[in-house]
Amino acid sequence: MRLILSLFAALVSAVPALADGPKLKALIVDGQNNHNWKATTPLLTKCLEDCGRFTVSVATSPEKGTVGFAPKFADCGVVVLNYNGTEWPAETKADFLAFVRGGGGVVVVHATDNAFAKWPEYNELIGVGGWGGRTEKDGPYLRLRDGKIFRDERAGPGGNHGKQHEFTLAHTDPEHPITKGLPPVWKHTQDELYDRLRGPAKNLTVLAFAHSDKATGGTGEKEPILMVIEFGKGRVFHTTMGHDVKSIQCVGFQTTLQRGAEWAATGKVTLPVPKAFPSADKSLATE
Ligand code: ZN
Repeated sequence: MRLILSLFAALVSAVPALADGPKLKALIVDGQNNHNWKATTPLLTKCLEDCGRFTVSVATSPEKGTVGFAPKFADCGVVVLNYNGTEWPAETKADFLAFVRGGGGVVVVHATDNAFAKWPEYNELIGVGGWGGRTEKDGPYLRLRDGKIFRDERAGPGGNHGKQHEFTLAHTDPEHPITKGLPPVWKHTQDELYDRLRGPAKNLTVLAFAHSDKATGGTGEKEPILMVIEFGKGRVFHTTMGHDVKSIQCVGFQTTLQRGAEWAATGKVTLPVPKAFPSADKSLATE
């Protein structure tokens, strides 16, 4: 019987992996944020688990300070940051950088790019960020002008948004695994449209921009919304969307989060393009 079982086990292990592969481990980091992380982390978890590609665990920091906060980054395929708070202990920061440099994936969601303004490697990892005293000393603003990325070196603070509204994303890299097959222009549900983000923007590709309208308190520029950054052997997917529950319910946010997390973890995207997706004129939200 033991022989039969081991033969069976050998046969099973010889079967090629399904197209969508084994489940990837995602770790969401939260606990401090000027946003409602207690409401958004369960939605991010559901979004990742519902696509069938991830198992999700959560590392929640202390409410104040980060003494002893040491998530096990090395155990997972992708770390999803829903964090904007106190700087981590030196050992935790070193563990995190070693994880990414060694090939780990990271997803940066919304106010996560406000965090750790004085941590140089973090600023490189997120590409561009806002607030926290960021200025021209941290790097340029990134804008899309005449169809090309423009590194705007002018002086000024980093980070701003106008009033919340629905806005339209236009993909600038439709062949990237994350965006490939998705409609190249689509409308996002009500959210903050981050503008004036600035940073080193090294090894960074912008996947989607949105026009930041002066009428809603924006810059009049096309601002980056979806980005990917290479950091060591690691991959980072950065979405500036996801201010609150309403914006996370957008099918476009969810689809790009799932595909971005899969790409960050593996360098590939196997998740299919959903049949129902926002159009250029109409946003689409889940219940
Ligand atoms: Zn926000």
